[in-house]
Amino acid sequence: MKCDIKSQTIEELEKQFQEWECPAYRVTQLFEWLYKRKVTSWEEMTNLPKNIREKLEHAFTLEVLQLVRKQGSRDTTQKFLWKLGDGSLIESVLIPANPALYGEASDRHTLCVSTQVGCAYGCKFCASGLEGWKRNLGVHEIVEQVLATERWNSKEKGGEQERLINNLVIMGMGEPLANYQNLIKALTILNAPWGGGIGARKITVSTSGLAPQIRKLAEEPFQFRLAISLHGATDEVRNKIMPVNRKFNLNELSNACEYYLSKKGKMITLEYILIKGVNDGMDQVKPLGELAKKLNAKVNLIPYNNVEGLPWERPAEEAQEKFLNALESRGVIATLRREKGHDIDAACGQLRLKTERELAQATETAA
Ligand code: SAH
Ligand code: SF4
Repeated sequence: MKCDIKSQTIEELEKQFQEWECPAYRVTQLFEWLYKRKVTSWEEMTNLPKNIREKLEHAFTLEVLQLVRKQGSRDTTQKFLWKLGDGSLIESVLIPANPALYGEASDRHTLCVSTQVGCAYGCKFCASGLEGWKRNLGVHEIVEQVLATERWNSKEKGGEQERLINNLVIMGMGEPLANYQNLIKALTILNAPWGGGIGARKITVSTSGLAPQIRKLAEEPFQFRLAISLHGATDEVRNKIMPVNRKFNLNELSNACEYYLSKKGKMITLEYILIKGVNDGMDQVKPLGELAKKLNAKVNLIPYNNVEGLPWERPAEEAQEKFLNALESRGVIATLRREKGHDIDAACGQLRLKTERELAQATETAA
């Protein structure tokens, strides 16, 4: 099977061009077409001689994500539903000028990208896990989410080619650390100056707690930020809502985080969705505060986004504030996301789920 051109590093292609006895500067030209101009066909690479284009076409695919559906909310969060080569659907979310959530506030455009079709981890509250896991995304399918979003943006701006995304959060559909090899290669490409050019410090990888892979990530030569989907500060609560905790409990997870911290010296973020009556009790505040201090982490409180078909609900605003205040009074750095994009099903997996349900219904009606 052919691999896709956007799964290749510049070093790999230099080697390939050497074998073809093509000059190295042609590789530079190729990468400009792919990552600066973001072209969608070989024909557009007009300064490459025809014989090189033919060789490339023969050896590689050049897949492009197709936009199936887009939702934009009033606060300009945009959600994209993409169709992949095999018809699978995935989501990316564009969050412009996101205030101080994953670093310093500035003129930022953050893209939340997916790493799998569905998710095998089955957290009880999450739309991505509802229908199970279908497959891992290929390197190019992760990379293409950034390019396709920038293409869409250029089109909106009347064809103006500009860089848009300068922040990445790997918090879309799927468990990134369960697609480890492809994730690392995609981030290598998105980080490289010849590729996406997004600084490693501007890339946040979120995991539900795959402790061994966190340790592995600590060994990589990148300064990625790490976010942990904690959502419970005791094994009792976490076991109830996140099956992954039965495999890697809080103790193992926190040891892996400490190891990451010791290697990278970066502040970790603990993501904590507030779910009414499940994990918003005051009994969670003490262990959460202790864990945050131990890991030198800040806590991101996120009011739960209702998912159709699931019984969970977000707590009332007073309950959210109470939880935040209790944490802060323990000296923990915490923020409460006064949710953007609630009106567009901002949590990942929801637009796909909705679309697939609508499609299934349409087929049923047609039959
Ligand atoms: N699998 C990885 C990354 C993707 S999930 C992980 O779990 O970290 C991205 C984030 O969205 C996670 O923190 C997840 O817990 C959260 N999330 C899932 N469903 C949600 C919902 N309905 N409302 C708010 N956040 C949700
Ligand atoms: Fe998968 Fe993350 Fe959703 Fe859990 S929260 S089911 S790990 S995508």
